[in-house]
Amino acid sequence: MSRILIAEDETRIASFVEKGLRAAGFAVTVTADGPGALAEAQSGQFDLMILDIGLPGRDGFDILQTLRGEANPIAVIVLTARDSATDTLHGLEGGADDYMSKPFRFDELLARVRLRLKDSQPGPAGSLHVRGLELDLKTRRIRVDGTLHDLSAREFALAEEFVRNPGQVLSREQLLSRVWGLDFDPGSNVVEVYVRYLRAKIGSDHIETVRGMGYRLK
Ligand code: CA
Repeated sequence: MSRILIAEDETRIASFVEKGLRAAGFAVTVTADGPGALAEAQSGQFDLMILDIGLPGRDGFDILQTLRGEANPIAVIVLTARDSATDTLHGLEGGADDYMSKPFRFDELLARVRLRLKDSQPGPAGSLHVRGLELDLKTRRIRVDGTLHDLSAREFALAEEFVRNPGQVLSREQLLSRVWGLDFDPGSNVVEVYVRYLRAKIGSDHIETVRGMGYRLK
């Protein structure tokens, strides 16, 4: 059974999400303040956290940054204030796996929870090879000229997109859509940031910048 942590100080929201997730078969814990949320997430007992940005004591961005700084692999869905594109961006750049803006429908949240939990399960056995790169779909690591590198969930998704489409130019919009699930361009440099992370791990010469068009795996 997957274990989910809800960090939300609005009791009405926390309670309806908690009830819905329990009814869907998850084990759920609720915490209503920032320091408590961080401590629970650091316990390693949860597979996924639903994280409100506006929490007393310590805000959601700060919690996310701390967890990612510690390489904590917990999947995080950020709850942002309605129409706050800035919050959405901050969340994605800070390492959130997904976001929901308030108000939201429970079934939409549930679909995202299921998707993110599936992402964090070990994938099918096997690996994808392309010239000096081997992407292991089960362990979600990449081997570059014989050396293994760990990838974050998002880095893995990005690497997979390149390795499945070698030699093709992938535009920022395509990557935002396929890797981040964003059907709009939030005007952020999140793609550039993650391409940089990936290059730092696999070497800068594998991913080529095609000016004005996007990126290509050589
Ligand atoms: Ca709040």
